[in-house]
Amino acid sequence: MNPCPCGQLGNPAKACRCTPDAVLRYQARISGPLLDRIDLQVEVPAVGAELLAGAADGEASNVVRERVAAARVGANARQGSSNSALAGDALDLLCALDAAASRFLQSAAERLGWSARGFHRILRIARTIADLADSRAIEIAHLGEAIQYRRVLQTH
Ligand SMILES: [Zn+2]
Repeated sequence: MNPCPCGQLGNPAKACRCTPDAVLRYQARISGPLLDRIDLQVEVPAVGAELLAGAADGEASNVVRERVAAARVGANARQGSSNSALAGDALDLLCALDAAASRFLQSAAERLGWSARGFHRILRIARTIADLADSRAIEIAHLGEAIQYRRVLQTH
């Protein structure tokens, strides 16, 4: 979605013409419960043609695809399902956190006012990020990355 009705909010090259009220109304069109079901929110700022042409190539898509496929195969071998399907005891077991990670997540949950569903979604996303990093444990960095993906638009 665009960030605002005119689409320029946050664009350093073009001014947004929207009032703060109009921006809030626009973003509120996605209801909290719907937003709560969207796992990954990524802000994509406008990039000028010059900057884009000068940018270094990122990691090749086929390399990323292989890493994702390997992580999915690994999750299926471990638990017989994808991470997004983890629930109940399997979720508790496979997304167990050490004391420091647990405190980190708990304080983020309180600060950001997550529902229980939102909390469990973060755990599943963090499990996937840990898998992609080939890490058995979910570490604070994995949780931090997972939390970032849910913070572009705030649910109320
Ligand atoms: Zn605007």
